[in-house]
This record gives sequence, structure tokens and C-alpha cells, in this order.
Amino acid sequence: MKRGSFKAMKNLNKSLILTKILNDGPISRAEIAKEIKLTPPTVGTIVKELIEQGIVKESAQGESKGGRKPTLLVIDYDAFYMIGIDAGPSEVAVILTNLAGEEIDTEMTALPATIAEQQFVRLLIEQVTAVLSRNQSYANRVIGIGVAMHGVVDAEQGIALYAPNLNLRDMPIVERLSDHFQLPVRIENDARALALSETWFGQGKASDKLLAVNIGSGVGAGVVLHGELYRGDSHIAGEIGHMTIDLNGDICSCGNKGCLQTVISGPAIQARATRLLASGVATSLNGTTPTAKTIFAHAEEGDRFSREVLHDTAVYIGIGLTNVIHTLNPDRIILHGGVMKASKYLLPVIKDTIEDRALTQTAKETEVLVSDLGDYATALGAVALILVELFKRNGEIHV
Ligand SMILES: [Zn+2]
Repeated sequence: MKRGSFKAMKNLNKSLILTKILNDGPISRAEIAKEIKLTPPTVGTIVKELIEQGIVKESAQGESKGGRKPTLLVIDYDAFYMIGIDAGPSEVAVILTNLAGEEIDTEMTALPATIAEQQFVRLLIEQVTAVLSRNQSYANRVIGIGVAMHGVVDAEQGIALYAPNLNLRDMPIVERLSDHFQLPVRIENDARALALSETWFGQGKASDKLLAVNIGSGVGAGVVLHGELYRGDSHIAGEIGHMTIDLNGDICSCGNKGCLQTVISGPAIQARATRLLASGVATSLNGTTPTAKTIFAHAEEGDRFSREVLHDTAVYIGIGLTNVIHTLNPDRIILHGGVMKASKYLLPVIKDTIEDRALTQTAKETEVLVSDLGDYATALGAVALILVELFKRNGEIHV
């Protein structure tokens, strides 16, 4: 056996044991050995190493099946820390968490409307530095930085290929940040990071085929199949905002006509309401210029027109999701984003539309939920990029 392959196997066993403790802890050494089919001495040696590294600790004693009670093992979630960055399009959010994704500190700042590549990277570095310098006692135990970037991302090469709202291209973000902080850095598209966020910390934990959809100023989705992100052949899996819904619809930021994004995003809701008001179809809203936010506020006050605008938006969302259900057949769909703040009006209609249109009874009953992860959901997804590598086989981040 070659030395390299021996080392690789040892790391593989290590990550298998670590993942077992993560998923099933508190668990005894004997149970680990039995369940992942390793010899007790092998498990003993690796567990000793993991305890020395601080990531695993002994907890209470378990039930004895005759003889001495076994000591149980758990992950020490406070042994190491991670940084997650939600990068754009309108703001940069940074979160510092422990290994359980529990928040230690956060930082949020607005992005200027136009920004050059150098400035953008510098801003990310400044925000992370601010959080780290406020939390000196954690800083030397940070094991990695995750970046959730809007737009098209090449996760393997670590490059933000195209950020349409900022009009930035080909930014080697991973290289820049890892050079600066001397830490492993991972990058992913923001909607995909959101999906990962739900799988690790949210309502997607038990889901085997998860779709997370972000509906804000743009529309994107992330797909997690059997615990792994699905990216597609050229990084565009999940770009559901650009499925055509209306052949004669509005021009989308991508150049096509009638994309889903042109009917359900925040700016799309605003444009439709403005058009209806201008055409005299409706005369409410007291002459104010509608935005997605004010339409929600007026709906709350009982305004019929605003409720109709939200109803129509929900029908479009339901149609888009039905198309995705027919393509991917997920078991759960979790909705995110500013538009979903009006979920009270949207969700029932979305569910009815899927019920009306999906092909089979089980498809009609696909679970559709609104995320409960809050404003740092995407930054938490960036954190999850580090966890994936720490706990999964072939991961390159080790402690
Ligand atoms: Zn489009």
C-alpha cells in the first residue's frame, strides 16, 4: 500500500467517525465501531486524536449492558469557529459562529450601487476583519471562511463568474481572501448556500430532496439532493428565476422575455402595481408610489387592490414552483427573501395553485414552508460550506 493512500484512508475513517458523532452523538466508542464497521482499536486511536484536537469531547456515561458503563462522545461545538459572508447584491452580512452555527457576532453594511472589483473584495476583508478584531478570543480558533455570493459562481475554482446586479465579473474571491486571512475559504452561489443553510440549521434537516427558493430583488434556488448540493454541469442549476412564464412578458435582466423573475420579484411586483394604477384599473393607495413593501403594508390595512396584487404574485409563484416540482420532484420547498415577508397573503394561494396544477396527489402535497432562519440565513449557509468539508468525506478542511 502506498503511503498516500494509507493517509487518505485514515482521514476517511476520521471523517466517518466525526460524522457519526455529529449525527448520532452522544454515542459510545463501541457503538461507533459496530455501526461503521471499524475495529475498536482503530476507533479508539482516532477518537483519541479527535479529543486531543478538541473537536470531540466525552460527555455523560451511557447505559451499561453489563459491566462498566461506556463513556459517550459528543462534538464540542465550541472548539472551533467559522465566518460566513453573505456578499451582495445590496448589502454584505458577516456572521461568526461556533460549529453548531450559533451566532457569536454579526456585522452588516450596505453596498454602494456601483463598486469596482478591488473595492468589493476590500470591503469583504474589512467586514471580516471588524468581526474578528471585536472577537479576539475566538479569532485564532476560526477554521474557515465561507462566502455566499449572488450571481453565477464557479465553486470549484473559487471564482465569482458574474454578479449581474453589481456588474462584476471573474473575481477570484477565494484566492484573495485566503491570501489575506491565511485560512481555507469556500464560495458558493447565494441561493445554493441558502439551501445548505436549511439542511444544516433549518427546516431542511430531514429532507432528502430539498429546494430552497429566494424571492427578493431577484429569484434563485438551491437544490440539495441526499445532503449534497446539486450544481449542474455549468454552475446554473437552480436558476429558476429565468424560466419563461409569459412569452410576451417584460424584458428580464437576463435579456429574455417574461422570466419568472419579471413577475414575482420585489421590483416586478412594484412594476405591475404601478402599471395597473396608471391604467386606471385601480385607484387606491392614496396616490402613493407603490413598492413591494408598501403594497404589503396596504394589504395589512385591508386595501383590496394591494391584496389582489399579492394574490396574482402568489399564483405566479405557485405556477413556477409547480414547474420545478414537475422537473425535480423535491420532497420539501423552503421559501426565503423579502417578498416572502408577505407570506401571510402569499403562502395559502401558492399552495392552492400547486394543488390545482400538479400532476399527482403526492406532487400536490409537496411541503411548502417559509424559512425561519432570519436575516442571516444566507451567511449561515456560507458557514455550512465549511461544515460540509469538515464533516464529509473527501473534505479538505481539517482541524
Ligand atoms: Zn431572465
